[in-house]
Amino acid sequence: MQSAKRQQTRTISVHKFGGAALANAQAIENVVKLLARTSGMRVIVTSALAGVTDVLLSVARAAAAGDLARAHADASVLHERHLRVIELTDANDVHLRRFIDESFEQLAALLVTAAHEQTLSARMSDAIISRGERIAAQIVACALRVTGVSAKVVDAAEFLQTDGRFSDAAPDLARTEIFASPLFSPILARGEIAVVPGFIGAGIDNSIVTLGRGGSDLTATVLARVLAASEVTLWKDVRGFLTADPRIVPEARIVAQLDPREASELSYYGAKVLHPRALIPLTLGTTLRIRPFADPDAAGTEIAHGRSVAGSPVRAISAMTAQALVTVAGNGMLGVPGIAARTFGALANGNISVSLISQASSEHSICFTVPEHAAAAAETQLRAAFATELERGEIDSVEVLMGVATVAVVGVGMARTPGTAARVLGSIADAQVNVIAIAQGSSERNISFVVNGESVPCAVRAIHATFRLDKVGGGRTVRRHGADVILMGCGRIGQELLNQIEALPLQEKSVMRIVAVIDTTGFIFQSRGLSANRLKAIAAGKKRGGSIKEISGAHIGSPLDAVRHLAAYALTRPVLVDVSSGDTREPLLSAITNGIDLVIANKIPLAIDSASARAILRDARTNGRQILHEATVGAGLPIIDTAEKLIASGDRILSILACPSGTMGYLFSELGRGRKFSDALRGAMKLGYTEPDPREDLSGSDVARKAIILGRMLGYEGELQNVAVESLVPSTLRAVSLKDFIAQLRTLDDAWTQRVEVASAKGDVLRYCASVTRASVRVGLLSVPRSSSLGSLSGTDNQFVFTTTRYRENSLVISGPGAGPAVTAAGVLNDLLRVVAS
Ligand code: ADP
Ligand code: ASP
Ligand code: MG
Repeated sequence: MQSAKRQQTRTISVHKFGGAALANAQAIENVVKLLARTSGMRVIVTSALAGVTDVLLSVARAAAAGDLARAHADASVLHERHLRVIELTDANDVHLRRFIDESFEQLAALLVTAAHEQTLSARMSDAIISRGERIAAQIVACALRVTGVSAKVVDAAEFLQTDGRFSDAAPDLARTEIFASPLFSPILARGEIAVVPGFIGAGIDNSIVTLGRGGSDLTATVLARVLAASEVTLWKDVRGFLTADPRIVPEARIVAQLDPREASELSYYGAKVLHPRALIPLTLGTTLRIRPFADPDAAGTEIAHGRSVAGSPVRAISAMTAQALVTVAGNGMLGVPGIAARTFGALANGNISVSLISQASSEHSICFTVPEHAAAAAETQLRAAFATELERGEIDSVEVLMGVATVAVVGVGMARTPGTAARVLGSIADAQVNVIAIAQGSSERNISFVVNGESVPCAVRAIHATFRLDKVGGGRTVRRHGADVILMGCGRIGQELLNQIEALPLQEKSVMRIVAVIDTTGFIFQSRGLSANRLKAIAAGKKRGGSIKEISGAHIGSPLDAVRHLAAYALTRPVLVDVSSGDTREPLLSAITNGIDLVIANKIPLAIDSASARAILRDARTNGRQILHEATVGAGLPIIDTAEKLIASGDRILSILACPSGTMGYLFSELGRGRKFSDALRGAMKLGYTEPDPREDLSGSDVARKAIILGRMLGYEGELQNVAVESLVPSTLRAVSLKDFIAQLRTLDDAWTQRVEVASAKGDVLRYCASVTRASVRVGLLSVPRSSSLGSLSGTDNQFVFTTTRYRENSLVISGPGAGPAVTAAGVLNDLLRVVAS
């Protein structure tokens, strides 16, 4: 019977269109065009239009949480969207319109019930989200009919029988076949196309269930199985099954052929391109293809039993985030049979599915991962199951570590290739990612390990590079362009930088796009780049004293959260620009390990302590990252660059004597012109040359930070607290209020006038300087000859005097404007353009 049927229906093909293929009216028309190129008996499976399932879920949650007004409002936006789509296609027919209107009326009624019930049951959730697919199927069928192709919708609830489990139902293949054959045979025999809403099925007692997120893939393979189709094609927004998630690894390549066992392990371990259970129904005679709807001629990936698996032992890498690692440990477990069985029995009782299991050979502990949301339930089940052992101390603990991820490295060729595991683990060790637990299936098709969630991109990229997966398979998948800029800090310098970037000639501006702006409260991110208008609005908000988290569309979180979030996206040549004034060591280190280059104007992370500064510079080097920080010293003047070039060319810098503060420069050039100290300082404040509290400048701490950054370039090993700093704030005025400080400024005038006169009598002037050598870093007041280069400095200009083995008699002097947002931003921009061009 089976073979007769196969004979008869061998030309049946199933085509599934994912949400991305049905994003809008134009996409739907493309689907119709694409189908016009196919022939034979065809069954179409549709997802909901792009993003619709997510919206329906959030609408359902809002209703259940009591916010019925929001739920109705969002539902009506969705209603409008569907109506607009059909208006823009030719599928604008009254029946279809009525179907959509009625669906949303029913949805509104369900929302009222959900609000009444006050919780969102899985049954209610499934009833609500099933609408997305059902409407999409009607739209596609109608769009086909208007082009003269006869198409008929077959609702999945009429044939796709399941175990009835809400939100994650498993199809019952045998029963589904009984219902499906009589429904489809006549339609296909008439040459009509059958259109089926994916993702949904029949539960027990006529309820609607869903097959888990991404479930329309499974609908397609179930249909292929029960109708004995020869081919099933999943039309997606990617060019095929790739060697890794392209959002993490931009170099990911297409895997032309995959064994179903490989594809199944990859999707089970998080490769989002395929529903994890979609391969179960696939029989020997059916080929599954993943193909790009945007390029219907491309072959994509072919998944079929018995395909050759030559080539790299590793085919692809996937990762599953939001996992928890549960460890059951204790000496009493040693050699006691049945502990593992009881552990997993307890979890099965709680309906919790375990994904990775690892047991040390000492049998001292068992650990396994479960989805984070199931961790609490797992712990409760285990504590109950081992209550006696825990009490007797035979089991010491049941521990849960949240926020981990499982990375799976998959390939049937690994079984034949010794040393693969060592190479995998070696590459992630080199990337300085810590492995928390490892498991290798006995089939040797899969090496899985658990890492901290945030290390996933780094680990996946490292393995991808080690096995040269970017050289395997079917060609490039992404076009490269310029660089993606992440702006950390949006104060005076950040705002000025944005203006300067906007003012660049188009050719230079077009090589970069600003994808994120971060402050201490949150971040705004747009992977395709923030528009000039959006950036203007952000800068204006910051200028008014607001913070990022208050801006609509912002994510709330620390700068470290922001970097971790961004790192998970496939940004092109990401560059983090630190123009903030906080302690950014953590986000900078995280950026480095995540493959992000750095441009730094913020002195704190490089000045604060030598170990951190070394770590940032060393990690950047070992990770092959660029790090430019010219603007930390002397704003846009080429100070760091000069020092680096001198050192690189074999010269030795013996000392640097510098006036690196515009504020101090102004103050002392005014004093030199006979102005009173109190008067000159007030003038500096009025001109905006000082911090709001000028004591921050007068204390010398800003100069000390610049000095230590220079010192470390010369090999100075001390800390900031070892720097001798002469503060110009008398100890009696350090603790008083700003107002009192200003009020008492006059009391300082006589002493300053006297000091200036003493210097002047010698032909000298006073300068506030940093004096830097390998052995010492000092910051304070110096009396220098009026005729020297430091003596002739005026206004807010900076000066740096390098004495080196080559420039010993005549020092190398760099001076020029060294303060203020405009020149600092120009220094940052210069660094940024250098990174982009490299
Ligand atoms: P559909 O439109 O059919 O629902 P999905 O959105 O579920 O398609 O799957 C495609 C997405 O899967 C891609 O956009 C890509 O971001 C992601 N993805 C994750 N891992 C991989 C991988 N290894 N190969 C291809 N795509 C992947
Ligand atoms: N629309 C459902 C989802 O977003 C099913 C699918 O697309 O396969 O998960
Ligand atoms: Mg999907």
